[in-house]
Amino acid sequence: MDQDRKHAPSKWTLATRILAERRAILERLAGLDQHSPGRHPGRHGSSDTPTSEVMEAAQESVVKEIEFASREILVARLKGLVRAEEKIREGTYGRCDACGHPIAPARLQAMPEAVRCAPCAAQREKRLVSPRRVR
Ligand SMILES: [Zn+2]
Repeated sequence: MDQDRKHAPSKWTLATRILAERRAILERLAGLDQHSPGRHPGRHGSSDTPTSEVMEAAQESVVKEIEFASREILVARLKGLVRAEEKIREGTYGRCDACGHPIAPARLQAMPEAVRCAPCAAQREKRLVSPRRVR
């Protein structure tokens, strides 16, 4: 019997999880597209109360901002998932894309799309988040 196999990293399970998550994200992205706010034809001219229009516009821009932010996050996760799938095919899954060291199994469990080890991911995030210096 294949007793040892039980402990081998189940790449199939991971691949299935990654695929399922990728599909879920694509669905959510499609949902965001459908519900894109801001188009309310026929509202114009019916009211002459500018304050409510201003309030509405403000609310809409907040909704847009939230949707934009979540879209960014979703697209970023999607990219990670696609890369993780590539890595499974390449046979480099579980290794950091940046430094080549193994990624902690706990990290992969929590985030199957992780393609970088925690230190490298943190470093990259810091670089992305840090404000650009504008002269
Ligand atoms: Zn690394």
